[in-house]
Amino acid sequence: MTSPAVRRLSEWDAERLRGLASEYGTPLYLVDLDRVRENAARLQSAFEFEDLSYAVKANTTRSVLETLRDAGVGAECASAGEVKRALDAGFDGADVRYTAVNPPDRDLDFVVDEADADLVVTVGATDTLDRLADRGYDGRLCIRVNPGVGAGHHEKVATGADPKFGVPYDRAPDLAREAVGRGFELVGLHAHAGSGISGDDLAAHRELVARMGDLARDVIADTTPLDFVNVGGGLGVPYREDEAPLDLRAVAATTREAFGDADATLGLEPGRYFVADAGVLLTRVNTVKPTPETTVVGVDAGMTTLIRPALYDSYHEIRSLAPDGDDREAVTATVAGPVCETADVFGTGRSLPAPERDDLLAVGNAGAYGYEMASQYNSRPRPAVVALEGENDSVAVRRERLDDITELERW
Ligand SMILES: *Cc1c(COP(=O)(O)O)cnc(C)c1O
Repeated sequence: MTSPAVRRLSEWDAERLRGLASEYGTPLYLVDLDRVRENAARLQSAFEFEDLSYAVKANTTRSVLETLRDAGVGAECASAGEVKRALDAGFDGADVRYTAVNPPDRDLDFVVDEADADLVVTVGATDTLDRLADRGYDGRLCIRVNPGVGAGHHEKVATGADPKFGVPYDRAPDLAREAVGRGFELVGLHAHAGSGISGDDLAAHRELVARMGDLARDVIADTTPLDFVNVGGGLGVPYREDEAPLDLRAVAATTREAFGDADATLGLEPGRYFVADAGVLLTRVNTVKPTPETTVVGVDAGMTTLIRPALYDSYHEIRSLAPDGDDREAVTATVAGPVCETADVFGTGRSLPAPERDDLLAVGNAGAYGYEMASQYNSRPRPAVVALEGENDSVAVRRERLDDITELERW
C-alpha cells in the first residue's frame, strides 16, 4: 500500500509535539524519518524505471541521509561539504554526484584528491573541464545543460533558463565532443529547471525532458554512449492546507513519454519532495501585541531559523498547539520573529485562536530548506533538530549554545 501523497500540518499529533517542545526546548525542528521513508517509497513506485537521487541540500541531517541511503537512492551534492556528508553517511561513492556550479578550488581539490570515490562530477562550463584536467581528474563526467526552459515557485529558484546554470543547449554537443576528445569519461547529461514544479507547470517540465531526450540521442549517435540522463528535481509539494498534492504518476508518465527512446537511464533528483512534509518547526509565543491593524504574535523562531518566507515570500502553514485553542476566539495575526529586520515575518493575516504568551505554534513543511538555511545572524544560536522514528525521538543536531557563536574567534 502506498502512503498518502501529503502529510498536512493538521495531522501531526498536538500532544506529542507539545511534549517534544517541553523536553527539547524551542525553537525546535522535528524530522520524521518514517515519513521520509514513505516519501522515498512513493517516488520509487511512481518512477519505477528511473534512477532516483536525493538532492541533499534540502536537508543534510545525517539521519535523513542514512535513511535515504538505506532506501536505495543516490546522493546529488552541491558542494564538497555535501559530498563529505554523503560519504560519511555511508553512501557508496558510485552513487554520489557532485554538481559543480562555479566550483571553488577547494571543492574541486576535495572531490578530485580527497573524496577518493567513484563519484560523478557534473560540469556546466568549459572552464570547469579545464580545471578538472589541471587536477588530473580521470573519473566519470556529466555535462549540465541549460535547457532554456525555466520553472519554479519563485524567480530566485527558477534555474532552467538562467545563464548561470549549465552550458547553453546548443553548445552541449560540442562540449560533449570536446570532453570525450580530451579523454574524459563522459557518462551522463543533466538539467534542472528549478524548484516547485506544480501540476500547472508540467508543460515546462515536459519541454525540458523532451529537449534532453533529443540531446541524448544526438550525443549517443555522434559522440559516445551514455549511462544516464538526469532531468533534475523540482517536484512541488503543497505548502497550503487546501492545495492538492502533485499527481506523481502523471508526472512520471509525462516524464517517460517526453523523454522518448534513448539508450540511457532516465534519472531524477528531487530534494524537497523527500523531506518537506516530514518536518515541522516548533516555536513558542513570547509576546502578544494587539495593534489597530492586527495582533502581532512574537515567537522565538525567526528568519534565522527558517528563512523561506523572508527570502522567497514562501507560504508556510502555522498552527496553534494550545490545548484549549478550540475554546478561544479566532483573531487575525501577524506571526513575527525576534530578528531586527522587517522581513522577519512568518505570516500575515493568519487566523489563529487568540494567542497567549507561552503558546506553542507549529510551522508546517519545514523539512526542506529549513534548518539547512538557518544562520547565526543577529548572533542567534541555531536550533536543535530532533529525529522521530516510530515512538522514538532523539537529538539529530544539538542546539547551539551562546558559546558556539564566538567559537570561531578562538583558536
Ligand atoms: C536544488 C537542486 C535540486 C532539488 O530541487 P528540489 O526543488 O528540492 O527538488 C536538484 N538538482 C539540482 C542541481 C539542484 O540544484
